[in-house]
Amino acid sequence: MNHPVLPSYISAENVGPWHIYLQQVEQVAPLLDKSLHPWVETLRRPKRSLIVDLPIRLDNGEVAHFEGYRVHHNTSRGPGKGGVRFHQDVTLSEVMALAGWMTIKNAVVNVPFGGAKGGVRIDPRQHSCAELERLTRRYTSEISSMIGPDRDIPAPDMNTNAQTMAWMMDTYSMGEGRTVTGVVTGKPVSLGGSLGRQDATGRGVFVAAREAARRLNIPIEGARVAVQGFGNVGEASARIFAQHGAKVVAVQDASCTLYDPAGLDLAALKRHVAEHRSLLGAPCGEPIENADFWAVPCEFLVPAALESQINRYNAERIVAKLIVEGANGPTTPEAELILAGRGISIVPDVLANAGGVTVSYFEWVQDFSSFFWSEDEINQRLDRIMSDAFNAIWQLAEDRRLTLRAAAFVIGCSRVLEARATRGLYP
Ligand code: GLU
Repeated sequence: MNHPVLPSYISAENVGPWHIYLQQVEQVAPLLDKSLHPWVETLRRPKRSLIVDLPIRLDNGEVAHFEGYRVHHNTSRGPGKGGVRFHQDVTLSEVMALAGWMTIKNAVVNVPFGGAKGGVRIDPRQHSCAELERLTRRYTSEISSMIGPDRDIPAPDMNTNAQTMAWMMDTYSMGEGRTVTGVVTGKPVSLGGSLGRQDATGRGVFVAAREAARRLNIPIEGARVAVQGFGNVGEASARIFAQHGAKVVAVQDASCTLYDPAGLDLAALKRHVAEHRSLLGAPCGEPIENADFWAVPCEFLVPAALESQINRYNAERIVAKLIVEGANGPTTPEAELILAGRGISIVPDVLANAGGVTVSYFEWVQDFSSFFWSEDEINQRLDRIMSDAFNAIWQLAEDRRLTLRAAAFVIGCSRVLEARATRGLYP
């Protein structure tokens, strides 16, 4: 098979989301306590990055090579933590940005982790389950010097799931000669995974939206919601919004956009996606132009797909009152300025989608103590952590007249840099 995936350095002129992450850091650097200024440079560079070659045997007997990455952005507050993404367009610069956002996110919800991320440049739709298993195992083996339950703990991200984590856990455990459940999170519950992890990011998106809506006087009951992405984050966010009385009027994935002002049948969409791997041809909603998704009349807009989806080309068309970032980096800084000028608030990714890593933290703690909690207990603790983090950010934003993103970055960066400054330099 001749696979069309190009190595990332072919598109070297495309600096990608890393540039956006750096702009976000630059924006808040002057707002940090003076004592932390000498350490800001720490945030501008990943601690270590690994590029690996992943040769795998395809089902037809041929060998194909894929490029993989693992980046530790920062480990000042604890081991690296962050997902692994399979996508044909993943680049090192994207993984660096995602790792940087993990550093900030983990500090915002105050879980004792640094920031890390991984990715493999592959289109998983073009490959069988057996090929993806071989790829995942080879990737795990190639990055094994970087990961470990007290070193760096991967988790699912775009196009990876509990099964991927089971393969990673098994491969790492084989190398160690013992079962090490705590090396990854987002595992199946039968292998030391946590109840509630599957829906955790979507649940956190809802909690963040609920807290913001309460302060902005937007009722959830009857509110209209538009969701971009119908994967783990988009589907769960949509379902939990609907459980609380909202109407999901539009969904979009890479294949199409579906609209129904009366509210879409989310269970039917979920069944369709489970069978066909996309929304195309789903039995409900009217297909509309992809570009028109952004102009759909709604109160809540939840981007839960890729980076830079809300940009200068569509920001003017958005009519939502509140954007809740289920994805990492979905809004460009240019779009953010346009939206701010139009009075549209954004609950930033480093807060809005932190529910996933928060329950990953619970999973890691449960694996260490071999004592497992009930789903109710997990959901309650998640709700508390998300609401407290939201509250602190809202307060700071009010007190210092900042956007929610700037306030979240001030809190996150301050925690990371305080740890950095207190640890001091080695040697
Ligand atoms: N991939 C998720 C994120 O972007 C979860 C990471 C984790 O649980 O470590 O936050």
